[in-house]
Amino acid sequence: MLLIDCPYCKEMRPEIEFAHAGEAHIERPADPASLSDAQWESFLFLRSNQAGICFERWYHVHGCGRYFNAVRNNVSEKFILTYQVDQKRPSDTEIQVALKLKAH
Ligand SMILES: [Zn+2]
Repeated sequence: MLLIDCPYCKEMRPEIEFAHAGEAHIERPADPASLSDAQWESFLFLRSNQAGICFERWYHVHGCGRYFNAVRNNVSEKFILTYQVDQKRPSDTEIQVALKLKAH
C-alpha cells in the first residue's frame, strides 16, 4: 500500500485517504476580466502534463481535509516530498536531497 506523508497531520497515511487535485503552483491571474478567451482557457485547462518529477496538489479528503503540495515522480508513482500550500516551491537542490534520503 502506498503511504503519503500529510504535511499537516505529520504522519504517513494510506493513499485511499487522499485525492489528487491537479497541478500545483497554478497562479490565478490578478485581473481575470482583462484576459482574452484563449488566455482564460489556458489558465483553466492547459497544464504541463510532463512525465517524471512534477509538482501536484493533493487533498487529504479522509483526514484533516486540507490541501497540500507534493513533489512526485508520476512515472514511478513515488512521492519525493510533501509541503504545506503556504510553503515555497522546493528548489532542485532540495528535491535532490530528498531523493537521496529516500534512497537510503
Ligand atoms: Zn492531513
